Amino acid sequence: MGPPGAGKGTQAAVLSERLDVPHISTGDLFRDHVGGETALGVEVKRYLDSGKLVPDEITNEMVRERLADSDCNAGFLLDGYPRNVRQAQQLGAMLRELNGELDAEIDVVLELDVPEDELVERLLSRGREDDRESVIRDRQQVYRDETSALLEYYSDRLVTVPAVGSVDDVTARALDALRTRT
Ligand code: AMP
Repeated sequence: MGPPGAGKGTQAAVLSERLDVPHISTGDLFRDHVGGETALGVEVKRYLDSGKLVPDEITNEMVRERLADSDCNAGFLLDGYPRNVRQAQQLGAMLRELNGELDAEIDVVLELDVPEDELVERLLSRGREDDRESVIRDRQQVYRDETSALLEYYSDRLVTVPAVGSVDDVTARALDALRTRT
């Protein structure tokens, strides 16, 4: 988990390679469906276009199908999911159902922590047109509002890593933190 600009997608990709588990990004899965114009893609396109969350039932079902793939048997790294407590509860139920095939539980929730001023600076320097400081700060606030309950829900397995410095530094810190937890 991590706010916009924390480098979550980058770290998820690197960590999945280093840990040799599939990287499951719900954003990427949805974008693939939209790009491929699948039935699901047609259904979710308007949510992605408007930046709104796809309804939980649709999202959970897509994740359930992905987790049933055999490459998830030895573990997986979720990126962008769960986004709220309802999804987290559903994920727990799914993993219990898939048990036997999957025998899995969420071991660790990794949170990338970056001071807000640093995030604002990073995002401003990317220079996208809509990245005005007030918009960026609003998005940070939305992230915190949306995720505070989720961080609480996973407090027993939450590992928070400072995500400042180089990509390699952050990866090293994350791997260290994960090693002590798993
Ligand atoms: P992301 O790449 O994680 O920012 O996700 C891109 C878009 O995919 C989001 O704006 C949502 O429309 C959708 N999405 C990704 N993950 C979820 C999720 N866990 N729940 C609902 N919608 C999601």
